[in-house]
Amino acid sequence: MSIVSNNLKRIKPSPTLAVTQKARELKAAGKDVISLGAGEPDFDTPDNIKQAAIKAINDGETKYTAVDGTPVLKDAIIKKFKRENNLEYQADQITVGAGGKHVIYNAMVATLNEGDEVVIPAPYWVSYPDIVLLAGGTPIILECNEKQGFKINASELEKSINKKTKWIILNSPSNPTGACYSEDDIREIAKVLIKYPHVYILSDDIYEHVTYEGFKFFTIAQITELKERVLTMNGVSKAYSMTGWRIGYAAGPKEIIKAIAKIQSQSTTNPSSISQAAAVEALNGTQDFIKERATSFQERRDFVVKALNEIDGIECLNPDGAFYVFPSCKSLIGKKDNRGKEIKTDTDFVQSLLENSGVAVVQGSAFGLEGFFRISYATSMGNLKKALEKISTFCKSLK
Ligand SMILES: *Cc1c(COP(=O)(O)O)cnc(C)c1O
Repeated sequence: MSIVSNNLKRIKPSPTLAVTQKARELKAAGKDVISLGAGEPDFDTPDNIKQAAIKAINDGETKYTAVDGTPVLKDAIIKKFKRENNLEYQADQITVGAGGKHVIYNAMVATLNEGDEVVIPAPYWVSYPDIVLLAGGTPIILECNEKQGFKINASELEKSINKKTKWIILNSPSNPTGACYSEDDIREIAKVLIKYPHVYILSDDIYEHVTYEGFKFFTIAQITELKERVLTMNGVSKAYSMTGWRIGYAAGPKEIIKAIAKIQSQSTTNPSSISQAAAVEALNGTQDFIKERATSFQERRDFVVKALNEIDGIECLNPDGAFYVFPSCKSLIGKKDNRGKEIKTDTDFVQSLLENSGVAVVQGSAFGLEGFFRISYATSMGNLKKALEKISTFCKSLK
């Protein structure tokens, strides 16, 4: 008998681990490895935010705070929703946790009973299905292929909903594809969801501030008929390069917010008091950083998408947001690499690319869609140029 709980046994080990582990081994062996696997911005946290944290320490803001966020931070979050999304909330509709992931985890633990279903569009962020499983629910994967721009098709969404459906998770801009839902896209989905009042919507807006070329961000809580069933998750990790600070938040139904506070009160207590003070400055302070950074990201995206599409056998859409692209390697399946190893799957492609060329990317099947791979361009232009050259040489070498 194993000491590990049955519930934990439902969780798969991370499929991205094989590639990361291999990359580590190659690096340790002295090989030159470029990693395009990172899920975080490469920029430093802006200085005004760091200074606010230092001030918080010096001012003695180093004690327990309210379990689900200080009143000052909740106020900054309320202002953010009003200013950026034209959404009104009260403090008892806001929760703050140790990162967006923690907020999603809490929301699932707070609401799922055994057998409850959560519709997850694929390609998905790797944590969604496993969080649902950990919370005792059942993930229902809704495939969204490249022909539909990796976005949900409204009639297929409708087919995936039944009496057991408790949540649908939306993520725009998306990790791993960078796909962004326009207001029209969201209105199409909303038409379906309005018909099923027992279904709640978790909107993961973590990449709200990483969009390009005037893409106009719209979030489903802005649909009045749905607002009371939407939990909008956001955070400072991606917008302000604050992944290590661990602050995420959500706004939504009081009942869920209260339940989440109960969970935190018996598990993590409040997120770090210092990080909360830093998040106040992130939200209330100057927003210049976001624009400057988006310019760099866009330059990188333009370069990466163009370079990928110049490679025979690779096809890549041009996404409007996040810092990922999700190119297809389907045309290269069935070929052999120069060691004679056959590329049967996207996982083989990714492993062979790493072993032969020292470029680490993640296979699409890890995100629930086979025949693709994810590139994160949250790294320097110099690294990207070297990496794309190597990917091109590798693809040409396949026979
Ligand atoms: C990074 C990320 C998050 C949350 O990140 P935290 O650091 O936990 O705030 C949530 N959703 C997606 C899709 C992400 O990529």
